[in-house]
Amino acid sequence: MLEQLKFLIEYQILENKRAMLARNCEEAPRRIAELEKEFGHFEAEFIARKADHSHAQETHRALEQAIADLEAKIARSKKRMNEVKNNKEYQAILREIDDSKKEISSKESEVLEVMDKIETLGAEVQEMEKALEERRKKLDSDCLELRTGMEQLKEKLERLQACQKEVEVKLEPNLLRRSNFLFVKQAGIAVAPVENGVCQVCHLNIPPQKFIELQRDETIMQCPHCHRFLYWPGHEAYCLSEDDYGNL
Ligand SMILES: [Zn+2]
Repeated sequence: MLEQLKFLIEYQILENKRAMLARNCEEAPRRIAELEKEFGHFEAEFIARKADHSHAQETHRALEQAIADLEAKIARSKKRMNEVKNNKEYQAILREIDDSKKEISSKESEVLEVMDKIETLGAEVQEMEKALEERRKKLDSDCLELRTGMEQLKEKLERLQACQKEVEVKLEPNLLRRSNFLFVKQAGIAVAPVENGVCQVCHLNIPPQKFIELQRDETIMQCPHCHRFLYWPGHEAYCLSEDDYGNL
């Protein structure tokens, strides 16, 4: 068994776990942002509905005021009737009163409409307010859960990185450098098993002579195509699995 090759495999397994944990750590803030956005949409809807409701109330007040003004106008016209000098003036005042009455009647039907609207919107606002409160509580508890989970993941990540460091110091600097380079250049995979003469990561054949050499287990080799470090799983010593690091 080549000890350095075994370290490379170990280093790879820890790297896989590290990358997965790092991804999971990023997941929580993304999910929190999503939840906050969702809540924000609902809150904006609630604010808009509330604004509609108070706008309708303002319209109602304005209509009532306009009706009161028209009624005052009619009262003034009626007073003026006592002072008219001829029939023409009298008819003009009657028309004025009639116009005001028509206007009042149209405004009164507007009032009915707006009152219906106020009632509907008021009920909606009340319901949404309750829902908003529930959503806020849910958001707080979900975010807390996500943050707690993330803290745990971070602790796990730190333990794992310490463990990876232990392997790192055991690796020859040259192999460590190449391995880190491959992590960056080859999608985080620096080590590949070879089965039946085929690199199991890039799926290309390695020359038969090289495969024989690999099975002899005398030198550390790299795939001629993807340049990953190769090992043959026929040697049990290299068959490490993530489960061997399950406590991390
Ligand atoms: Zn390959």
